[in-house]
Amino acid sequence: MHSYSLTAPAKINLYLEIIGDRPDGFHELVMILQSIELADRLDIQPSDTQNIYVYCEHPQVPTDETNLAYRAARLMCDVFGDAYANYGGVSIRIEKNIPVAAGLAGGSSNAAAVLVGIDLMWKLGLTQPELQDLAAKLGSDIPFCLAGGTAIATGRGEKLAPIEDLDNIWLVLAKHDNISVSTPWAYQTYRQQYSDSYVRDVTSINNRNAQVHSSPLVKAIAHKNKVEIGKLIRNDLEKVVLPRYPQVAALKSAFATQDILGTMMSGSGPTVFALCESEAKAIATRRQVKNQLQDPHLNFWVTKLATSGIQILATN
Ligand code: ATP
Repeated sequence: MHSYSLTAPAKINLYLEIIGDRPDGFHELVMILQSIELADRLDIQPSDTQNIYVYCEHPQVPTDETNLAYRAARLMCDVFGDAYANYGGVSIRIEKNIPVAAGLAGGSSNAAAVLVGIDLMWKLGLTQPELQDLAAKLGSDIPFCLAGGTAIATGRGEKLAPIEDLDNIWLVLAKHDNISVSTPWAYQTYRQQYSDSYVRDVTSINNRNAQVHSSPLVKAIAHKNKVEIGKLIRNDLEKVVLPRYPQVAALKSAFATQDILGTMMSGSGPTVFALCESEAKAIATRRQVKNQLQDPHLNFWVTKLATSGIQILATN
């Protein structure tokens, strides 16, 4: 049996609009999701026992059954019982490059890589829709992480419509290592403050979902109009996270003074990104903001938009 090494890229939200409540307690969302080149590496190989093992040196990443990569492997063992009985357990090593609890879907991307890795290792020959169905069982962001690129996501984020891929835009990510934002807190607080504006009936929700396809941001993406894209990015969760975390708001303001295309918080934060025209501009932006804020807890990454999700790096 072969072993596989895969790259699991992070994602940012170019657009996150909260349109209403769902009967399952989640929010009805309209998002535009975008893969970036900053990625983890996962090595997936057979274990000598029936157990699932996760190894990761990052102190904030659990290696027990709460790890999303572990949960993905467990799901594969449960769904494909014959293959599991035949081939045995799985050993997963995660090289963590994506900042943890950052609104960049690092854990979700790891889970997506495990689905792909085990499919290959056990020669299951799953189709993309079959992998997407398994991914949706594990979490809302995981179907997107599988396919990657640029996509409109609706429902809880699991219904995907790929759009024109974007690349050739650089970005600076910045995150305070002493701030963490709870995603459930952000959505609950948004509900408390803004549920008056929620769309409630199914027809209106469907209309809102349909509208995004002809929205100015999707048109700008189709035309690869970087300046318009920078102006049109949106994240409703900023309305609750920025007032509660002034340092995140200050970071966004510092980016906004630079020669960039646009700046926004990703997901429920606390990561803030700045879209830049070139690598040189991204590097200059990082230097300026770092000097301006002088905060030892602030970490920066320069990376680029990416056109793909999980990729195979090596087969052994
Ligand atoms: P999202 O944007 O999907 O909400 P995130 O980027 O904010 O995700 P993650 O990096 O995925 O957050 O991690 C969130 C929490 O999940 C972490 O605090 C960590 O303890 C736990 N976790 C479980 N599995 C993983 C994993 N494989 N990688 C990173 N964190 C994981």
